[in-house]
Amino acid sequence: MSCIFCKIVAGEIPAEIIYQDDDVMCFKDVAPQAPTHLLVIPKKHIGSIAELKDSDTNLAGKILVTATAMAKDQGISESGYRVAMNCGDEGGQTVGHIHMHVLGGRQMGWPPG
Ligand code: 5GP
Ligand code: ZN
Repeated sequence: MSCIFCKIVAGEIPAEIIYQDDDVMCFKDVAPQAPTHLLVIPKKHIGSIAELKDSDTNLAGKILVTATAMAKDQGISESGYRVAMNCGDEGGQTVGHIHMHVLGGRQMGWPPG
């Protein structure tokens, strides 16, 4: 298994895990771009959002709802935060396992670079 996020799911490499259940995991980004920077991933390997299938509808929704809960847990829900999912090279995706960024604790700009 070469996927770094699958290795985190398997406990083969460490991460600061905030939450996990049977379907999803949330851990801190190793190179935070904001005071709060979490990643929410499905435990099942899916390479990118471009690979999502109809049968992944519930799982995809759960990733977003988990991000909502994590933002509340981390105390950034009221001040505001950003969720982002990068897809493919020009989308800025660098890890080939679906992940939702949850960024907060500072003012976000728009559009992203
Ligand atoms: P992407 O650029 O694919 O949207 O986001 C990948 C994110 O994963 C980056 O923000 C990067 O800092 C983070 N990342 C890469 N490798 C690791 C790792 O081994 N552990 C953790 N916690 N985050 C990682
Ligand atoms: Zn993976």
